Amino acid sequence: MTKTHQKQNLLDFDLDGMKAFFSENGEKGFRAVQVLKWIHQRGMIDISQMNDLSKVLREKLQEVAEIRMPEVVIDQLSNDGTRKWLLRMEDGNCIETVFIPQKDRGTLCVSSQVGCILNCSFCSTAKQGFNRNLSTGEIIAQLWVAAKTLGQFEEGADRMISNVVMMGMGEPLLNFDAVVAAMKLMLDDNAFGLSKRRVTLSTAGVIPGMDRLSEECGVAMAVSLHATNDELRNELVPLNKKYPIKDLLEACRRYVNNGLKRHITFEYIMIKDVNDSVAEAKKLGRMIKNIPSKVNLIPFNPYPNTEYEPSSQQAIDLFVKTLVDNGIIVVTRRTRGEDIDAACGQLAGKVQDKTRRSLRYIKAVGE
Ligand code: SAH
Repeated sequence: MTKTHQKQNLLDFDLDGMKAFFSENGEKGFRAVQVLKWIHQRGMIDISQMNDLSKVLREKLQEVAEIRMPEVVIDQLSNDGTRKWLLRMEDGNCIETVFIPQKDRGTLCVSSQVGCILNCSFCSTAKQGFNRNLSTGEIIAQLWVAAKTLGQFEEGADRMISNVVMMGMGEPLLNFDAVVAAMKLMLDDNAFGLSKRRVTLSTAGVIPGMDRLSEECGVAMAVSLHATNDELRNELVPLNKKYPIKDLLEACRRYVNNGLKRHITFEYIMIKDVNDSVAEAKKLGRMIKNIPSKVNLIPFNPYPNTEYEPSSQQAIDLFVKTLVDNGIIVVTRRTRGEDIDAACGQLAGKVQDKTRRSLRYIKAVGE
């Protein structure tokens, strides 16, 4: 494929990046604020229409920059209102983004990488392997496209997307810089203006990234725990061999202790006869008792050729009761968007095959 775009994509900049870009081009830094507002608050990506910039500046800007969005390949609506977009990037790679409307909020589940390197045994994204990191622009574009289709940029419209979770495809802390810049745009009052409580990063437990994140961008943290002993966690989340449970829990403690009043959300997938016993619930309760936290139980979502099965409702209820009896706050995640393969662990996307000649659609469910 020949490279057709040489201009700077303004979607790749957070406020600092945009300011630097303007000053490198001999312009005042406050122009950055104006442009950010046009793009991320008014949904305007045509520079020539940004009419609070002088015509001369607009023309100059258009010579060196533009705003390029990924292409929406599929826009699917589930019976329960969940919506999923398949977006194609400039290089042909595709990713998925999911919007989950609830009574009191609307949550967007955002991807950080094409594929994933971690190879968790229960996750279908792992089966497609790792292709590449997403850029800042490709991450924030997911928010922009969702906001645009949901009508959020229209004058007087409600804020449809009230929460963002970095829980789509990929491990966000292994794409640190691009993810942090994109999250800064989510938080920036000149862009999406969400509060830190409403932006959550989910990690399989990349400890150095967790420490760095607390210094640079203290958003809400979710940790995919899934097991109460290293032997099982090594199997489910192979990253555990590098960052075992004890060290991970210490990192969680550091994250909550670092100034801001925060808590950790521990995600725990309920897999039948693997990690769903009462004994494990008791152990989990003991392990996290001293960390300000809550547990988010996620019923395992099956996909073809998986060896695992979801826990029974009875096992889930008992697990919840045991945790609650031990003083732990528990939320059970309701599976959403199953009919459009939008549930946790079902995001697979479309990846370009190695020959770069054809596109292969890898579907997690229903093949
Ligand atoms: N890499 C990050 C973020 C992506 S996964 C992380 O590991 O946290 C987002 C959440 O979906 C994680 O908690 C993950 O464990 C969960 N998940 C993955 N596959 C799943 C499946 N088949 N069923 C239910 N949840 C799944």
